[in-house]
Amino acid sequence: MAGEITFSMIKPGAVRDRNAGAILAMIEKAGFDIVSLKKTALTKERAEAFYAVHSERPFFNDLVSYMTSGPIYALVLKKENAVTDFRTLIGATNPADAAEGTVRKLFANSMEDNAVHGSDSDENAQIEASFFFAEVERF
Ligand code: UDP
Ligand code: MG
Repeated sequence: MAGEITFSMIKPGAVRDRNAGAILAMIEKAGFDIVSLKKTALTKERAEAFYAVHSERPFFNDLVSYMTSGPIYALVLKKENAVTDFRTLIGATNPADAAEGTVRKLFANSMEDNAVHGSDSDENAQIEASFFFAEVERF
């Protein structure tokens, strides 16, 4: 299948809420190929590294605590216009602003506990996919 990749995480809150399966179903129904998938967890050091771009933001420490509060699912996804189409599927960062039918509208509990991550550019998608997966784990 043709297309670019994006990287996603199903965040600890959505895993706790038992919504991982429903989110994976939405991703498949939206036409994304699941290239790589694993359940894992972030250490404090790895969460800080993953979100390093936000290290000066007031929400950074809380975000790192939240992202290390339980297991996550890491996903590499493939589709034409994967980055843009996935951001559309998940909705706005703040679930109060997320469109009806989006993953965050359906499954987020708050701005922080907002169910899923999605890469914001093709370049970051490659960096983030490599943060979790070796080339040989991408099919
Ligand atoms: N976040 C937060 N408070 C904010 C902004 C962001 O807790 O005011 C968290 C939220 O979990 C978000 C993540 O930090 O998903 C990364 O923020 P970003 O602005 O990159 O949002 P995203 O790209 O995830 O929509
Ligand atoms: Mg972002």
